[in-house]
Formats: sequence, C-alpha cells, structure tokens
Amino acid sequence: MILDHLTLRPGVPETELFARCSSALRAPCKELRILKKSLDARDKRDIKWVYSVECDTKPLKRERKSYPQIKKPAPKVVIAGAGPCGLFCALQLVRHGIRPIVVERGRRVEERQEDVKRFLETGILDTESNVQFGEGGAGTFSDGKLNTRTNTPLGRAVPETFVEFGAPEETAYLSKPHIGSDNLGKVVANLRNFIVENGGSFRYRTALTDLEIKNGKLSAVFLNGVREETDFLVLAVGHSARDTFEMLFRRGLKMEQKDFAVGVRVEHRQSLIDRAQYGEASRFLPAADYRLVSHAAERAAFTFCMCPGGVVIPSASEEGGVVTNGMSDFARAGENANSALVAQVGRKDFGGDGPLDGIAFQRKIERAAYLAANGAGSGAYRAPVQLVGDFLRGRESKNFADVLPTYARGTEFAPLSAYLPREVVETLAAAIPDLDRRMKGFASYGAVLTGVESRTSSPLRILRGEDLQSISCEGIYPCGEGCGYAGGITSAAADGMRVGEAIAEKFL
Ligand SMILES: Cc1cc2nc3c(=O)[nH]c(=O)nc-3n(C[C@H](O)[C@H](O)[C@H](O)COP(=O)(O)OP(=O)(O)OC[C@H]3O[C@@H](n4cnc5c(N)ncnc54)[C@H](O)[C@@H]3O)c2cc1C
Repeated sequence: MILDHLTLRPGVPETELFARCSSALRAPCKELRILKKSLDARDKRDIKWVYSVECDTKPLKRERKSYPQIKKPAPKVVIAGAGPCGLFCALQLVRHGIRPIVVERGRRVEERQEDVKRFLETGILDTESNVQFGEGGAGTFSDGKLNTRTNTPLGRAVPETFVEFGAPEETAYLSKPHIGSDNLGKVVANLRNFIVENGGSFRYRTALTDLEIKNGKLSAVFLNGVREETDFLVLAVGHSARDTFEMLFRRGLKMEQKDFAVGVRVEHRQSLIDRAQYGEASRFLPAADYRLVSHAAERAAFTFCMCPGGVVIPSASEEGGVVTNGMSDFARAGENANSALVAQVGRKDFGGDGPLDGIAFQRKIERAAYLAANGAGSGAYRAPVQLVGDFLRGRESKNFADVLPTYARGTEFAPLSAYLPREVVETLAAAIPDLDRRMKGFASYGAVLTGVESRTSSPLRILRGEDLQSISCEGIYPCGEGCGYAGGITSAAADGMRVGEAIAEKFL
C-alpha cells in the first residue's frame, strides 16, 4: 500500500510512521519504505515533514533492474573525463556489456584529495589535479546537492544510483538530498571499482589532446599526444577544460557562445539563516538552505549552489587566477552558510560573439580577483573580500564583524569593483537589499562577499544533433556540463547515462 501526505512535526521520530501505517493497513506494519520526504516550511508556525511511504504487513519486494546485453561486436569507446557525466556514461555502457576506456587528466580520487589538501594548505596548485580536475569531477569537493528538479526517469535514476554505490539512503527519497563532500569520494571510488570489475578501464594523468577526423568522421584520438584509434569519443570534460575547448574549436567542432553567471560567494552565520527560514522550529531541523532571485536591477541576480554549514573553497585550476565555490560535509555542521550570489553575463560583457570569448572573460575576472588580493606573482591564492554593509555604502572594509570567512587560502580586503564589471557590481548592489526583504538578515552588515564566482556553468555549447552526436563530426558525443547539456551533478550524470544508452542501443 502507498500512503501519501503523512506528516510529522519536527523532532518526532520517524518510527511513528509505523503506527500510522499499521492503522491504515489495519494490521501491524512489517516494513515501510520512504518514497518521498520533504519539508513544508511555508508557514513558520506550522512546519512539518511530509512523507509518501510504501508499507505492507509482509516484507516489501525489491526489484533489480536488468539491462539487455549487446549482440554485435563491441565498439571501442573512449570517454574523456571522469566527472559525474563520464562515470555515469561508463556505468551505463558496462551494464550493457561495452567496456569503455575512461581517460582523466587528473588523478584517482584518493590521490586527488591529497593534491587539493596541499593546495589549501600551501598554495601549491597542481593544474591537472585540483578542485575542478581529477576523478569524480568538479563536484567531488562540494555539498553534493542533487538537484532533483529534473523529473525524468534518468533524473530519478541518478540519486538511486548514488545510493547503490554508497551514498546515504535518504539521498534516494529526500526532495533536496545532499551527499556531502566526505561521502562523495567514497561513492566515486565504489563507482570506479564497479566499472573496472565489469571490464571498463581508467587511465589517469591522461588528457585528450587532439582528434583525427576523416571525411566528417572520428578516426582516432590523441591521448597525451599519442594517437589511438577509436570508434566513439564521449566528451565529458566539464566546464573548466579551456585548453580542450580551444583544441576542439581548432579541429572545427561546431560550437557557440553561451551565457552564464558571475559574482561572489556570500557568507552568513548559519544560525541567522536557520532563524530566518524556520524560526523557533530550527532547533529540531537540519541546517536551513535558501534559493533567492531578485529582479531589482535590469539584469536578474540570484543565489545558487547554497551550502548550509559549509565553507567557501578555493577552486582555481589555472595559475594566477582566484576562483571560489562552496563545499559542505554531510553533517552540514559548520558555523557559516555560503552561497553563490551572481548575475547573468553574455555577449555584450564578453565583447564579442566568438565561441571562446566567454572563457577569455572568465579568465580576465579571475586574474583581476587574484591581483586585487595578492598583487603580482605572490602565489598565495588569497581571495578578495568585502563586507556586505561596506559594499552597500560604497566603502572599503577594514575589519570583519560577526562573520569570519572560511576561505582556506586567506583573504584580503578589496572592493568588488576591483575585479567585477560595473554592470555586475550594480546588479548585486541592487539585489542585496531586495533579497533581504525576502530573507531577513541577508543584507546584514557583517556578511562577507568573497570573490570571484566565475565557474557557474559552461561558457559555451558544442552543438549536437537528435542522435546526441556532434553535428560536425560523426562518432563524437558532446556531453554533460562542459559541452552545455547539464547544470549540476544530477543533470550531468543523467546526460552521461543518456549518451551511454544511445551508444549501446546501436549494438543491441
Ligand atoms: C566546488 C564545487 C561545488 C559544487 N557543488 C555542487 C553541488 O553541490 N551540486 C551540484 O549539482 N553541482 C555542484 N557543482 C557543479 C558540479 O560539480 C558540475 O555540475 C558537475 O560536476 C558537472 O559534471 P561533468 O561530469 O559534466 O563535468 P566535471 O565534473 O567538470 O568533470 C569533467 C572531468 O573531465 C576531466 N577533463 C577535463 N579535460 C579533460 C581532457 N582533455 N582529457 C581528459 N579529462 C579531462 C576533468 O579533470 C574532470 O574530472 C559544484 C562544482 C564545484 C567546482
């Protein structure tokens, strides 16, 4: 039996659901499975958890999905990139009996964790193994929020697959699940081990460096400069593979510029966000999140990738550029909340409509942020910071107030205008008081703005047809966030599965 709209007050244990199910079944409930769980916090005086459950008087049946196996000789498939897109594509292929070769420019997730730790502690940046690059992809050092708004069967399959490979059970049924950075590394290693046990292989420190195209069809790839023939190439390189995009452009792959968003990370105390969102009930509830949009200026500004109880993480992948992003562990127990606060940018900001102009724009503001906080050639990767109160009054900050920044490489006071375009600065200045009307405290004096948030999504799209192949080269599948077909872990993984399925279908 499936029961919808069961509600529990915050603080009431979930075992109470058994009693509700038993009375609906008119017999003792033997087992229940939560299908959906969400928090209804629209009325702060009446906050409740809302559940859909499946329950029975006998043990519930568990179904295992089976996958048809290929019948024709298996093709050779090279997947460039071991982020969520590349990993889920490889998983889908091995499920059908195809053995892909996954090439990843960075290191295995366990070694990459050491590279990132070294960067955070010393400022020594490995440009091939960092927060953007390496096994697990860009989201490995993240909050691991799974945006489940993609209500497609593949979108729903992604959280379930994460649970299959070691993510907390609740990932499959919460309306806003998050895996946490502490769990993500283990899940990535489990996924990789499964792919290898089923015939796939991984090559680390191995970058796709060139292509050989004959008569509009892919004939070979170059891996670290060495030629290797292949039938298919899946481009799952993520949004920061700037050198790869330049190579693909030179080789004539049709691509176009794409709008994205830039701005800063805003940090508040988590207790302020909890009170603003949940009031008195906050002591019984997990750390609160928010998602806000402002139309106070000509361009929209919005918050994005909010990390409750998390830290602002230094996320550079190129020398001499400062990049921020957000990360939390599963417990979300840190003092501060952080979120991207960004405004949309496009052609008129890039100063041209070339497909690579968005990359040049990103690089320019990342370098300006670096210079604002470090001066030329210091190598420290400190980030520029300004207090919200000072930003709104148009003056430079001198001291922190109630919020201390969590950015691990250290900070230097510098105004946003030192590294962001004037239009973006003005948009954020109009948005902050407007967002404060929606969430009290957003514009509090001591909140910290840390620059620069520049890698919100890909600055370009590589064009593909209905069959998911590049419109200019047969055999190449542009895929995931970097090629412009996803925004976030769930949609990148789902796109990888879709491409894996499309390749497998040709051989069933
Ligand atoms: C710090 C941080 C926090 C984030 N938090 C969240 C979050 O909580 N929730 C969410 O949904 N999203 C989050 N994101 C965004 C999310 O990580 C991306 O949307 C997602 O990882 C995109 O997946 P992808 O597989 O398409 O690309 P990526 O994850 O970027 O993976 C691409 C991979 O390709 C490799 N690569 C690049 N070029 C080459 C080449 N030439 N040859 C071989 N390999 C190559 C890279 O090393 C990388 O491992 C976060 C991102 C960051 C940086």
